[in-house]
Amino acid sequence: MIKRSFFTLTKPRLSYDLVEPDPKEPKLIPIPSNLILLLNETVDGTRQALIKQGDAVEKGEKLRLYDDSTEYTISPVTGTLTTIDSYSDNFGSTSTYLVIKNDQGQASQKESITYDLKDDITSADEYLRTLPGAPPLKMLANDDVKISTIVITCADTDLLSTTHQYVTLKFLDEIKEGAQILKRITSVPKLCITVPENLKIQGGFDTIQVFKTSMAYPSNLPAMVLKDHLNIVLPAGQTPEDLGVCFISAEAVVSLARAYKTKSADFEKVMTIIGKQGAQYRVKATIGTPLSKIFKTFSIHINEQDRIIIGGPMKGVATYTPHHPVRPDMDTVILQDRDIIPELSDYPCINCGNCIRICPVNVPVNILVRYLEADQYEEAADKYDLESCIECGLCAYVCTAKIPLYQYIKLGKHELLNLRADV
Ligand code: SF4
Ligand code: SF4
Repeated sequence: MIKRSFFTLTKPRLSYDLVEPDPKEPKLIPIPSNLILLLNETVDGTRQALIKQGDAVEKGEKLRLYDDSTEYTISPVTGTLTTIDSYSDNFGSTSTYLVIKNDQGQASQKESITYDLKDDITSADEYLRTLPGAPPLKMLANDDVKISTIVITCADTDLLSTTHQYVTLKFLDEIKEGAQILKRITSVPKLCITVPENLKIQGGFDTIQVFKTSMAYPSNLPAMVLKDHLNIVLPAGQTPEDLGVCFISAEAVVSLARAYKTKSADFEKVMTIIGKQGAQYRVKATIGTPLSKIFKTFSIHINEQDRIIIGGPMKGVATYTPHHPVRPDMDTVILQDRDIIPELSDYPCINCGNCIRICPVNVPVNILVRYLEADQYEEAADKYDLESCIECGLCAYVCTAKIPLYQYIKLGKHELLNLRADV
């Protein structure tokens, strides 16, 4: 694997959005009559599952397929399990989706089940993985991963989104509480927090070390935070966790604080929705709500070929259905009208060099993509730095030939993992 000199002097040209100084309350989306949950495990037709269609479920109940399953989800409502079926994501990875019929409507929703939550990471991981913000408790509870630094992210990682900043302005005290809980249950010695340099916050963060991040994209991506604030260069093919650093969103920390106070789970996810004309809406929706219900609240009509992007404009991934559910880690959804979707092309690379000049980690993108187009993933990794890519999406943004470079790279990394898993 080649080792290139890390970050270039190329200046990124895009700026993160700053949340409004006194943000309004998000629009609360009514709990729908049917909620969809995704479970990161596939149904094994040869085994008797613990859950089946027709089962009654309670709000806060843990749902898993088998006794030895390590994956679970939590029901956000009291209701009936009406569907258990397999689900395939954009890369063809399969999991399971569950549909829960909400039997209790809005006003009469019961309190959530309470948990026997103890002051240790195993107990938190047992019940709280699917809280809004998706706290990385599975990783923190894994004895094979040695985490020495936790970075709480109040800075949004993609353009247009202000979800993390909103949570920071509104729930600062709960972030501080949640940070202390994290410290107590993980015994991780170092806690840091990223805050956009232009975000005005009343009061400080007590003992937490604050990293003021630049408004220039991609400063808030984990690899950039490691380099700019912790003086750690992320080696190709490694993750921050491999180097002992865990990133957790501000919302996840707030959710932990609430869960430890009430001994139960919260299900309302804060999100930034960007409409077709660029209008921004902030919403609070129950995890499992189909996105179509949110669009309906704002009278947004989705046409056949409109594009729905989960995530920001640089790193987001398109979904093929407006019924895709709100998930614990879903911070942003962007809608693009079919008439203004940026064109992709099958034109060949014209060697303009834009992608190479803008890449913050010096990947030779123009050559790399030729190997990816030819499905030569091992060569792409060994000779052309596929694994050095920090997935900022800038190369695709500037590509003159409109080649979907970012999508090729994401797919290439996925295929590489599959190839290595098969060895
Ligand atoms: S997405 Fe493109 S520009 Fe960004 S790090 Fe990867 S190769 Fe470089
Ligand atoms: S920006 Fe696009 S067209 Fe230009 S060198 Fe890179 S891949 Fe080729």
